[in-house]
Amino acid sequence: MEEQGKYQRIVVPGRFQPPHLGHLELIKQALKIADEALIIVGSAQESYTINNPLTAGERIEALILMLRHELGSSFCERITLIAPIPDIAMNKVWVQYLRMMLPRFDAVITGNELVAMLFEDMGYPVVKPVMYRRGECSGTVIRRRALEGGDWRSCLHPLVAEYLDSIGFSERLRRLAAKL
Ligand code: NAP
Repeated sequence: MEEQGKYQRIVVPGRFQPPHLGHLELIKQALKIADEALIIVGSAQESYTINNPLTAGERIEALILMLRHELGSSFCERITLIAPIPDIAMNKVWVQYLRMMLPRFDAVITGNELVAMLFEDMGYPVVKPVMYRRGECSGTVIRRRALEGGDWRSCLHPLVAEYLDSIGFSERLRRLAAKL
């Protein structure tokens, strides 16, 4: 990990389907090296599919619940924005598109190789996160367990688990799987 305050505003892109404790650690790592984090909720146009069950609004709501609880009073000053960003067909200009849609940023933190490549090509520093409980803290594992009946809450913040229960997350996945 790099030194604190190295960057002014770091981008944290993700699909957050759903936001989990690995994402929380990623955002905490971002805030160790940057004054502010700009969280991108990517694939914002996707919802109600097996791989993208949550709407952008639901993902943002879950992120706010988790981050307000974890960051307390520093939430407003450290999290610049949580922005829903629909995908575009042209990867090569994705970072320019982000520059158009978002306030200024000067680095990105990502484990996603495509995202890393696109930012590197545009001359931005790319920070690789340290993975947190990779085996279970993964959107794919959480969605599969919620669908098949495993412990899907173990890598979720309690407030996120409660919220997902309140909107019928498992039931939504089961109904989506049934229509395949
Ligand atoms: P994600 O699966 O939600 O992951 C978000 C970030 O969290 C990634 O950097 C991921 O690293 C990291 N992470 C996952 N589990 C972790 C753990 N246990 N501990 C620490 N970090 C963890 O989302 P993503 O796939 O990276 O999202 C990228 C978004 O950008 C997508 O919505 C994509 O569509 C969008 N995008 C769009 C375009 C376009 O429109 N043309 C181009 C590029 C990207 P890992 O990747 O290693 O899991």
